[in-house]
Amino acid sequence: MDYHRAVCWIRRDIRLSDHRALAEATANARQVALAFVFDTTILDALEDRDDRRVNFIYDSLKELDDNLKKHGSKLVVLHGNPIVEIPKLCRDLDAEALFFNEDVDPYAVKRDAEVVRQVKHTHSFKDHVVFIRDEILNLQGEPFKVFTPYSKAWKARLKPEDVASYDPDLKNLWPAKDLPAEFPTLEHLGFERNSLWLEPGESGAQQRLREFLPKLPHYAENRDCFDIDGTSGLSVHLRHGTISIRECFRAAEGYEKWFNELIWREFYHMILSQFPHVVEGAFRPEYNDIIWPGDDHAFEKWASGQTGYPIVDAAMRCFNATGWMHNRLRMVVAMFLTKDLLVDWRKGEAYFARYLLDFDLAQNNGGWQWSASTGVDAQPYFRIFNPYLQSVKFDPDASFITKWCPELTDFPVEFRHWPHEATQFDQEAARCILGQDYPHPIVDHQEQKSKAIALFKVAT
Ligand SMILES: Cc1cc2nc3c(=O)[nH]c(=O)nc-3n(C[C@H](O)[C@H](O)[C@H](O)COP(=O)(O)OP(=O)(O)OC[C@H]3O[C@@H](n4cnc5c(N)ncnc54)[C@H](O)[C@@H]3O)c2cc1C
Repeated sequence: MDYHRAVCWIRRDIRLSDHRALAEATANARQVALAFVFDTTILDALEDRDDRRVNFIYDSLKELDDNLKKHGSKLVVLHGNPIVEIPKLCRDLDAEALFFNEDVDPYAVKRDAEVVRQVKHTHSFKDHVVFIRDEILNLQGEPFKVFTPYSKAWKARLKPEDVASYDPDLKNLWPAKDLPAEFPTLEHLGFERNSLWLEPGESGAQQRLREFLPKLPHYAENRDCFDIDGTSGLSVHLRHGTISIRECFRAAEGYEKWFNELIWREFYHMILSQFPHVVEGAFRPEYNDIIWPGDDHAFEKWASGQTGYPIVDAAMRCFNATGWMHNRLRMVVAMFLTKDLLVDWRKGEAYFARYLLDFDLAQNNGGWQWSASTGVDAQPYFRIFNPYLQSVKFDPDASFITKWCPELTDFPVEFRHWPHEATQFDQEAARCILGQDYPHPIVDHQEQKSKAIALFKVAT
C-alpha cells in the first residue's frame, strides 16, 4: 500500500496512542485525515437529550481535536448517516483509501459493509479486542461456551506481539487548513449538557490507569467490596476506546485476577460475534419459552430504587444518579429483577442499555444472561443470590447503602441492611418509619426463589 491521501474513521477508538487503524493509515499514506460521524441512526433512537454517553463522546472528541491541532491537523466531525457521510468525505477529500478498526456489534457490521461497498480501497483492523470471532476455538474447532477453558486457550495462544503497541506516525497527518467542517456544538447535535463523574478522553483514561496501578496488587481481595474503590473504573474508557485494550493487558501482566476480567470482556465479544442470536433472545433457546410473571409495577419499583431491599435500592439509585454500577451490584440487581421480581431479563437489559455510561452490547447482554441463567456459562438457575447476605458480606458497615439511602442512616448497622426487622420503637428512634420513609420489602425472597426455580424447571 502506498497512498497519497487517506481517511481514518474513528468510532469506538477515540485516541491517538496505540491505535491500530491510525498506525496503519499513517504508515501507508502521506496524509491522513481523522473523521468521526455523529451517527443520526444511533442518536435519533436515544431517549434522553442529556444522554451521558453523548456527553462523554463529545468531550473525548474535543480532546482528540485539541491533540490533533498540536500536530497541525484537526478532527473532521460530521453529523448524519455514516453510510452517506464517510464515502462522501472520501470523495470530497479525494482520499484514495479508508482505514478503520472493526466493530462486531450487528448494527456496525452491516453499516461497515455498506461503507466498504462504496469506497474503493478500505482496510479494517482488529483493535477493540485481542482475539475475536474464530481465533480461539476448542479442539473440535468450535467456539467455547464455557469461560474457564476459553480463558486457558486464550492465554495459551497469546504472544507478546498480540498486545504490542501500534504507534501512529503523527508526521503524516492531514494539515488542518485543507480540512473541512467546524466542530459542531452539543446543542447543534440536539443534545444537552449532563454532569460526568469521570474525566473524558485519553487523558482521563491515563489518569484512571495511573490511579489504579497501585491498587492492582489488592484487586483480587477488594474487587467485590461495594464500599471500596478497588476496581479500575476503566470500562467507560474501554467502551469508547479512549484507552487501548492492549495497554490494559500489558498493565495486567502478573495480576491474574484483573487479567481474567479483561478476558471476560473478550469472551463476551467472541460470543456476540459467533452467536449473534443472543441479541434477540436467550443464548439457550429453551429459556425463551419462560413466561415471566413480573409486572410493570415491580419493574418500576426496581428501576427507581424503591423495593424495600436496601442493597438493591442503593445500587439502583447510584445507577440512576451516575450511569455506573459496581460489577457485583449489577449481578445483585439483575438477579433480583429476574429471580425475585420474576421480570423478563430483557427489560432490565434495556434499562441498563439506556443509562449505562459503559454500555456495551456484548458485555451487557452477557452480564444479564449470566444473572438470568439464560446465557452462556451462566449462573445455574437454582443458585440465587440472597440480597441481604450479599449486602452484609460486601458492604459490612452499610456505608454504600446509607450513601444512597440516607433515610436508613440512623438505624444501627444490622437494620440498615434489613430495616424490616426493626421494631416500631427502633424505627421511631431512627426517624425512619417503614411504609412511610422507606418501603416495606416488595416481595419475600424465599417465596420468590421457589417460584423462580419452578419457572426454570418447567422450561428445562
Ligand atoms: C448485568 C450486567 C451488565 C453489565 N453490563 C456491562 C456493560 O454494558 N459494559 C461493560 O463494560 N461491562 C458490563 N458489565 C461487566 C462489569 O460489570 C463491568 O465491566 C465492570 O463493573 C466495570 O468496572 P471496572 O472498569 O472498574 O472493572 P474492572 O474490575 O477494573 O475490570 C476491568 C475491565 O474488565 C472488563 N470486565 C470486568 N468484569 C467483567 C465482566 N463480568 N464481564 C465482562 N467484562 C468485564 C471490563 O471491560 C472492565 O472495565 C456488566 C455486568 C453485569 C452483571
